[in-house]
Amino acid sequence: PSPLDRDQQQGIRAIRDFLKVRTSYDVLPLSFRLIVLDTGLLIKKSLNILTQNSIVSAPLWDSDTSRFAGILTATDYINVIQYYYQFPDEISKLDQFRLSSLRDIEKAIGAIPIETVSVHPSQPLYEACRRMLKTRARRIPLVDVDDETGRETVLSVITQYRILKFIAVNNEQNTVMLKKCVRDINLGTYTNLATARMDSTVLDAIHLMVEHNISCIPIVDADNRVLNAFEAVDVIPCIKGGAYEELDGSIGEALCKRPDESPGIYTCGEGDRLDSIFDTVRKSRVHRLVVVDDDNRLRGVISLSDILKYVLLEGEEDSGPQT
Ligand code: ADP
Repeated sequence: PSPLDRDQQQGIRAIRDFLKVRTSYDVLPLSFRLIVLDTGLLIKKSLNILTQNSIVSAPLWDSDTSRFAGILTATDYINVIQYYYQFPDEISKLDQFRLSSLRDIEKAIGAIPIETVSVHPSQPLYEACRRMLKTRARRIPLVDVDDETGRETVLSVITQYRILKFIAVNNEQNTVMLKKCVRDINLGTYTNLATARMDSTVLDAIHLMVEHNISCIPIVDADNRVLNAFEAVDVIPCIKGGAYEELDGSIGEALCKRPDESPGIYTCGEGDRLDSIFDTVRKSRVHRLVVVDDDNRLRGVISLSDILKYVLLEGEEDSGPQT
């Protein structure tokens, strides 16, 4: 192998070793808050709570059984929207739905539920990552069980972003070894890209996300130049207050409803190296990279799961079929 390949392999191996000796516990900040929502809460109210606290997801707690009941994410709201369009006569009922109805809504629209796996916080981080990739979950809850009472406690939730950030911050000496470029390691997706225009409707974008099982649609102009990206979480401000009719509005309008602190999109080129992608992750709140050419035309999308998959599974025997 070339020196470049050798360095790359060495860097990746070192990162994997690092993930094997760290636990999910290590990823957590020294002090943090966790907002847990009771499943008895009205779905409508949950939207306000997320917005007020500038969060886009929360673990659910079933106080009847005193058990952890999964994680509320933007996907759940997208399911509610689909339900509304499939059963328009039920709109009056929709206002009364509680978070405990989410599983029924999922069933009614025939959505494949995202398996809720949880990990114990003291398990190796490597295990948590493998589980995440296997189930395609973008976040997993850390659940601890009390030995004596058998009671579950949700300690926190770790996301792909948090893990990649943790790797980036603590492995600078290893990530500098990753000098192969995006094109050479085939990182990301470059064919059958789902895109929309500024004047497409929010509903169009939602349908694309559901159909492709993705959470981000690049927004391009007539020349395929990248203008922005519509994310699943952008749906939340659109339906706040129960205004489901507004989904017929344009993506352009919807993007104006983004909170002020929203970071915007990050782009990279196919010639960019993995180490510079880790630099971006180290410095910024990246949720994916949109790959563009020199004229800012869309070439591809690199999701955090693509990066995590490469770092964890590249060259492994059981990397399995790429789905
Ligand atoms: P995201 O949640 O950022 O959409 P996922 O981790 O769900 O990303 O991505 C799943 C796969 O879909 C990844 O391999 C990613 O490269 C690909 N992907 C992401 N966005 C798009 C898109 N707009 N069109 C086609 N493929 C995409």
